[in-house]
Amino acid sequence: MTKEPHFQRVALIGIGLIGSSLARVIRREGLADTVVATSRTAETRRRAAELGIVDEVVDSAEAAVAGADLVVICTPVGAYGAVAQAIAPHLRDGAIVTDVGSVKGAVIAALAPHMPPGVHLVPGHPIAGTEHSGPEAGFDSLFEGRWCVLTPPDGTDPDAVEKVAALWRRAGSLVDVMDAAHHDMVLAITSHIPHLIAYNIVGTVADLEDLTKREVIKYAAAGFRDFTRIAASDPVMWRDIFLNNKDAVLEMLGRFTEDLAALQRAIRWDDGEALERMFTRTRAIRRGVIEVDQA
Ligand code: NAP
Repeated sequence: MTKEPHFQRVALIGIGLIGSSLARVIRREGLADTVVATSRTAETRRRAAELGIVDEVVDSAEAAVAGADLVVICTPVGAYGAVAQAIAPHLRDGAIVTDVGSVKGAVIAALAPHMPPGVHLVPGHPIAGTEHSGPEAGFDSLFEGRWCVLTPPDGTDPDAVEKVAALWRRAGSLVDVMDAAHHDMVLAITSHIPHLIAYNIVGTVADLEDLTKREVIKYAAAGFRDFTRIAASDPVMWRDIFLNNKDAVLEMLGRFTEDLAALQRAIRWDDGEALERMFTRTRAIRRGVIEVDQA
């Protein structure tokens, strides 16, 4: 018995943490007759084949998408333009092209101009991940209970959107549909700026003189330890996120630095009341995150 949604041939372009997690879900749920994957390097292709999580591993994106009714782009977003250009002539009529990229406006700008008529573009972003990379890092429960945001451009075929939504529901995700610009603004503050802060604070430690640095690492309390985990995230993926969500990140960073200056001022002027007021408001946000099961 086939299960809905059901695809004949799913092509995964990129099979790192996210691509391989999705491959594992598709296999577990029996959502495709064939799953074919490709990766830029022979080394990752070899590792993906060894893991046995897909039916075929091929050498090129062009070969992967031939005959596929679902194509999922799972590379860093900076590679999307080149990927789209390579696969466009080989896409089958009626195919759905989706992705997992962490920014959406720039992704649509990179993909949409290359999509042939009759191909449905349904961009997506599973808001789930870890600081690990590569096909071995994936696991089939990664998306469970996490949101997946779809940002179909105006006029996208609703059936195609529903098929992609159903795929993510089968992965255990909650699905929301929104405008790409709105997605990018929300993610700038909930994900991108927190990563930037982590990279910055851990970078500051990296610049300290040796003795102090050793002590910071030795006595790493929970706060700094958590930052080091986030700052261990893939450098290329995060480079591409900041370069491709520039406007929203700079807008949110402006607000962030204003608020930071206010805290700096409160400390300088012994304004304990202002500090306490701020820290009380932030506690309420944490309670809100716990209440909606996203902690
Ligand atoms: P990953 O584990 O590093 O895997 C990246 C994959 O893309 C690998 O197959 C890699 O191939 C390939 N690749 C890298 N650079 C490429 C290029 N220039 N051209 C073609 N292929 C390239 O990355 P990931 O964590 O799965 O992230 C993939 C996407 O998911 C990104 O767009 C990211 O924004 C998004 N995302 C990530 C997370 C997260 O927490 N990690 C969460 C949500 C969404 P080789 O190994 O062969 O080089």
